[in-house]
Amino acid sequence: MERTEIEQLGEFGLIRRLTKDIKHQQLSTLLGVGDDAAVLDAGDRKVVVSTDMLCEGIHFDLAYMPLKHLGYKAVTVNLSDICAMNALPTQITVSIALSSRFSVEAADELYSGIHKACEVYGVDLIGGDTTSSKAGLVISITALGLVDSESVVSRSGAKTNDLLVVSGELGSAYMGLQVLEREKEVFQAAPTAQPDLSDHTGLLERQLKPEARVDVIKEMADLGLKPTSMIDISDGLASEVLHLCTASRCGVKVFEEKLPIEEHTYETARVFNLDPTLCVLSGGEDYELLFTIDQSDYDKVHNHPKLTIIGHMTEDAKELTLITRNGMHTPLTAQGWDGIVTGQQSEQGI
Ligand code: ADP
Ligand code: MG
Repeated sequence: MERTEIEQLGEFGLIRRLTKDIKHQQLSTLLGVGDDAAVLDAGDRKVVVSTDMLCEGIHFDLAYMPLKHLGYKAVTVNLSDICAMNALPTQITVSIALSSRFSVEAADELYSGIHKACEVYGVDLIGGDTTSSKAGLVISITALGLVDSESVVSRSGAKTNDLLVVSGELGSAYMGLQVLEREKEVFQAAPTAQPDLSDHTGLLERQLKPEARVDVIKEMADLGLKPTSMIDISDGLASEVLHLCTASRCGVKVFEEKLPIEEHTYETARVFNLDPTLCVLSGGEDYELLFTIDQSDYDKVHNHPKLTIIGHMTEDAKELTLITRNGMHTPLTAQGWDGIVTGQQSEQGI
């Protein structure tokens, strides 16, 4: 039988292949594979469900990721997917596979972070599964959320001329990872050296303790602002913009000068010889919300301290354009991590 390497298809190609023939048999399944979360009919409200798996050596490195932070992050990245549907998270289940390397105390540490996130976000831990593993730690979390029936937002509702908006700032989680990787190398070369991370606490926090933008979802509801489409930024801005365009059959113009990047992130990228714009476009793990709004809602986001308009949707689905600071039009591509610094291997996904 023919053998195809998974890397030939890539992560998204593989998911498409495995799920292309799914036909829903339940009327209550309103939205299945293909968005940040599935949407189920529950009468006047909708239940939103999302699941994510984190594997040691692929998604995290325990050399610099404390177990408590890992537990916290494993929860918040799932809650972020619930927010991306314009829903509020309510419950999680947690499944773990532990190798014999891990003690009971280590499991306690992991769960202290999980419980902390549940407390901060007011979600209940309602179940899970525990098993052993031969290759390190695996954590799989399923999150559930609720949203009023008319308020659910998918990736596919953007229209021509809608404004493209992002919450918070971008690129700092990626730069936090760069700082940690550098310190790990220094430590491996000279184990007695003390890492100097004090200049970068903000970046490290963004990498080690990302938050889900439940606050933004609530504020948008208060403003009477319903995005036309939405996604959360896990893989990098460019990749997520392209997902919105594909799902909504639109093109896009993104303006480099509008991208929200903090000065310290910018400066640190420079020190690391990285292009700050590429860190924003391809870095990932920001867990901010990326969404489109109707032009008539401009006043609600203009001058909003947490929101930045970075571009707009266009009619031509083939137009995926970044307009650089000096006015050049370049194709917006979802470069892997290789694009940021040559020679670096992709760290995430398959
Ligand atoms: P996100 O980055 O928002 O977590 P993913 O890119 O992981 O989303 O997944 C994209 C879509 O594919 C989601 O709807 C997810 O539920 C679905 N999906 C991913 N892997 C599988 C799988 N092995 N089987 C079925 N559906 C999957
Ligand atoms: Mg997502």
